[in-house]
Amino acid sequence: MIKTKKRKILLLPGDGVGPEVILEVKKIITWLNKKKSLDFQIDEDLVGGASYEKHKNPITDEVFYKALESEAVILGAVGGPKWDNLDFSKKPERALLKLRKELKLFANLRPAICFKQLVEASSLKPEIVSGLDIMIVRELTGGIYFGEPRGIKPIENGERKGINTHTYTSSEIIRVAKVAFELAQKRNKKVTSCEKSNVMEAGVLWREEVQKIKDSDYSDVELNHMLADNCAMQLLRNPKQFDVIVTDNLFGDMLSDEAAMLTGSLGLLPSASLGVKDKNGKMRSMYEPVHGSAPDIAGKGIANPIATILSFAMALRYSLELEKEADNLEKAVQKVLDEGLRTKDILSKGKKEVSTSQMGDAIISKLK
Ligand code: NAD
Repeated sequence: MIKTKKRKILLLPGDGVGPEVILEVKKIITWLNKKKSLDFQIDEDLVGGASYEKHKNPITDEVFYKALESEAVILGAVGGPKWDNLDFSKKPERALLKLRKELKLFANLRPAICFKQLVEASSLKPEIVSGLDIMIVRELTGGIYFGEPRGIKPIENGERKGINTHTYTSSEIIRVAKVAFELAQKRNKKVTSCEKSNVMEAGVLWREEVQKIKDSDYSDVELNHMLADNCAMQLLRNPKQFDVIVTDNLFGDMLSDEAAMLTGSLGLLPSASLGVKDKNGKMRSMYEPVHGSAPDIAGKGIANPIATILSFAMALRYSLELEKEADNLEKAVQKVLDEGLRTKDILSKGKKEVSTSQMGDAIISKLK
């Protein structure tokens, strides 16, 4: 079989359960290299608390440059109580913010899929969530988390004032809207755009720009506008009405967590953060599970690796143009769940409990 060109993948396991779940992805990559003659070149390095312990820095320049050079970065998780009291600039989470900002990862994709095998794990009624498959596209590098001026300053009569600024430019809105429309074209051709245009000027601009780009470039996609607070309510009332939701950084932060919980388990939720395409159509990207470092279960071999494995499947689809391999990996996860194998977090009566590595091995066995 002809070998494809080398694909550089950077693995950043991080802290807590991060190394345990990334190890399962590494096993899958090694399997793909060997059995499918793919040529992934894996590099692995420290990030977060693990990097702080060695370098007194949550991400070194060397690791950052490796990320710049890679076709995809796959990250485990960062953080933990050990580093909670560090100065803000040294905290493990700073590494994530730096990667997102400097790699210009402006679009965060968070699928919320309710696996039929796990419908009971959701806090909503099975008929509301069964078959749920929505994609939330959150703008990740603009809005109130980055806007200037910001800070806390003293004002008259001894009071203090906290300031953050919510700003968006037309181009910031258009580029993330395009990501949403293009995803919708491959799905059910429906985009819901959320803002607060009833009370925020930036929301009015958001609505106008999304409508304009739809009218000019995406006549095949249906567009609805919804106020973000209504969207929060609709996600609980009737989540299956949505296909792709596109929204800003702040509302996306909340709506994507809410949608995630419709599916029942943090251990199953992947995410992708995508950057700007260069002139050759290549883009920077980072893939990570939605969950954190889960210090309460770290080192016990019980973490669910599925969120990280599905994040790698997203990397295969969106960064590495290996759609078929992505499909196969997602199907392998489904088959393992069909057979009743469960890590502790999703265990229910009559199902078989497996460890992190047994789950990884079972998924690999279904790839064959
Ligand atoms: P968490 O996601 O780490 O854990 C929340 C709960 O979910 C815990 O009970 C944990 O055991 C469980 N859980 C998480 N992932 C799991 C998995 N793969 N399998 C089974 N169970 C799993 O959130 P937290 O406890 O609020 O945060 C812990 C640390 O992680 C904090 O330091 C936080 O800052 C950090 N964090 C990092 C990221 C990231 O790296 N992207 C995201 C969120 C939180």
